[in-house]
Amino acid sequence: MINLCFHGVGAPARPLETDEAGYWIEEGLFAEVLDEVRDRRDVSISFDDGNASDVEIALPALRRRGLRATFFALAGRLDEPGSLGREDLRLLRREGMAVGSHGMDHVPWRGLGPERQEREWVTARTVIEEAARHPVVEAALPLGRYDRRTLAGLRRLGYARVHSSDRRPALPGSWLVPRYSVTASDDLASVRAQILTGPAPRRRALLELKGFAKRVR
Ligand SMILES: [Zn+2]
Repeated sequence: MINLCFHGVGAPARPLETDEAGYWIEEGLFAEVLDEVRDRRDVSISFDDGNASDVEIALPALRRRGLRATFFALAGRLDEPGSLGREDLRLLRREGMAVGSHGMDHVPWRGLGPERQEREWVTARTVIEEAARHPVVEAALPLGRYDRRTLAGLRRLGYARVHSSDRRPALPGSWLVPRYSVTASDDLASVRAQILTGPAPRRRALLELKGFAKRVR
């Protein structure tokens, strides 16, 4: 499986975090990538950060192509200008999309103390569930950071799948799901060559090994 991850599409409508601009892509590239993958059953799509462009640009584009996606919302930004609102989460659900958690404050989940774990992993999930009026069973790791303790904590809390940003293909049914972020420096050619084609066998083995080291550290 190739899992694509998008962040913002078009022009941001809120102040961006440091280095975040590199994760915003133009609407034209977004449409080209969707056209490229619309008939590929081995590709899945998700969105992090809960930007307003999820419903303003992505949702209509997905709907036009009959595509589904998972949207990882940020509980701490719901109803803020430029971000998804509670009503948007219900709209996404009604449109057949899945809604997951990206936590509360967009901080890395590696090395959190007990109080921050509770806030990021339990409270944020509850806020999103109440907004979407639906159970949340999946999470996406903010900034892609994790270690053994992060994953053990998320497993203990019953998350059914956790999505990383490790750029490699995923095995079907895996609990920790690697994804490829499409970024501002991409164009359709780079998405084809570096993401949709998948790595050569030797490179794939190296990436698997790096993933293993990250999971057990
Ligand atoms: Zn994020």
